[in-house]
Amino acid sequence: MAYKAINPFNGELIREFPNATDAEVETTLKNAHEFYLEAKHQPILEREKMLKEVADEMNANIDYYAKILSLNMGKLFNEAKQEVLRTTEFAEYYARNGSSLLKDQPYEIPNNYAYVEYNSIGAIMAVEPWNFPYMQVMRVFAPNYIVGNPTILKHASIVPEAAQAFEEAILKAGIPTGAFKNIFADYDQVNKMIADPRVQGVALTGSERAGSQIAAESGKNLKKSTMELGGTDVFMVLDDADLKSAVNDAVLGRLGNAGQACTSAKRFIVNQKLYDDFVDGISAQFAKRTLGDPLDFKTTLAPMSSKSAQQKLQGQVNDAISGGAEIIWGDNTPIKGPGSMFNPLIISGITADNPMYDQELFGPVAQVYKVKDDVEAVQLANRSQYGLGGAIYSKDVERAQNLASHIETGMVAINQTMLSHAEVPFGGVKRSGYGRELSDLGIKEFTNQKTILYK
Ligand code: NAP
Repeated sequence: MAYKAINPFNGELIREFPNATDAEVETTLKNAHEFYLEAKHQPILEREKMLKEVADEMNANIDYYAKILSLNMGKLFNEAKQEVLRTTEFAEYYARNGSSLLKDQPYEIPNNYAYVEYNSIGAIMAVEPWNFPYMQVMRVFAPNYIVGNPTILKHASIVPEAAQAFEEAILKAGIPTGAFKNIFADYDQVNKMIADPRVQGVALTGSERAGSQIAAESGKNLKKSTMELGGTDVFMVLDDADLKSAVNDAVLGRLGNAGQACTSAKRFIVNQKLYDDFVDGISAQFAKRTLGDPLDFKTTLAPMSSKSAQQKLQGQVNDAISGGAEIIWGDNTPIKGPGSMFNPLIISGITADNPMYDQELFGPVAQVYKVKDDVEAVQLANRSQYGLGGAIYSKDVERAQNLASHIETGMVAINQTMLSHAEVPFGGVKRSGYGRELSDLGIKEFTNQKTILYK
């Protein structure tokens, strides 16, 4: 059985789930298609109301939903509650704005009239990661439900209880199983569903490796896809930055979710004038963090999501050291035991030939770089195969905006860490993927943007 919930704090198996049968796959596709056909005749307002009820259900039982995250992937309980709240904000945004985001778009052409309407297209195969088990799924489900596209979820195999809990919230709100179905599918079954004509879109959030495999399957079957992949996001501190807020945000950005967020601050590029103070500042705050049980309120640094995530990061750090990088703060002795603990580290001296140079470090390890000016900072930022997000700290917002235009990523945050908001598009360029989630762009990704001409 591939789907297993294992507590990352102590390595105990909580529950395992059998893989879906092929008959379940067929029923899922059949129900999804029926929902797609029915939803065409259902007013959007009705779906908006139901979506709000999903949010209400999750908010009313926030501790229940949050605890499952702590147990399945090790998120600090407070962070887990934050995730539930943000998940429901996404649902509420589409519940409030769905109809207006999908209203017809008129176009002016000589001697004629035209408009585009946004129609549903069919089921969406959503393949999702474990790091924000509810939030990532809501980003696909909520807009597509409003459109009238059913969502079929293949969640990460380490968060099966979270996948079930999400489905439970939807069913409790009265939404039919055709509109949303969690399925414990294996990779072959996912490929079969992508190939099935009842599935018309594929949304993947995950690693570059999974992205290239799923994008290839989608392309082979001529299905539109969106790819929300990894990144090596920069956190640039210019010579006029407010050091205190830069240090505070850097620590939150790197250690939040135990460093396991796609837009976590990963490469800290700091002007030489502030470099020493910045490194001292983040080291002092890293030192105050306490690793432990995510359900214990005294814990301020969560375990990593799994033993394999811990071992992968340890291997990356070891390779970086062998390649000439240096640990300038922290203890690199692996933490033994059944849990997935990882001590935070700060690493410098990463040269372009170091294996770590262009790798995503998905955990509490900060890479720091000293630069002489803004030009060097931008060059270093762009010397990456990834292009997801990034942050710039400067008291001169115009200067930061100018630099932001030169950074090759899908998103840049100024004087704040990169967070997703329902109201603005989210997504990357280069090997961080393509397509956008959230906002008006997100809801239109999987629509038939149908042109209608009339006289
Ligand atoms: P992952 O290993 O790529 O897995 C993501 C999902 O893809 C899981 O459900 C996984 O299932 C599935 N999967 C992988 N290969 C597949 C295949 N060939 N066929 C069908 N399904 C397949 O990524 P992860 O470790 O869960 O998540 C971490 C990554 O996600 C990081 O790189 C992070 O940056 C990225 N991420 C990006 C965003 C964004 O919005 N850009 C947001 C969050 C995370 P199994 O678990 O069963 O293998």
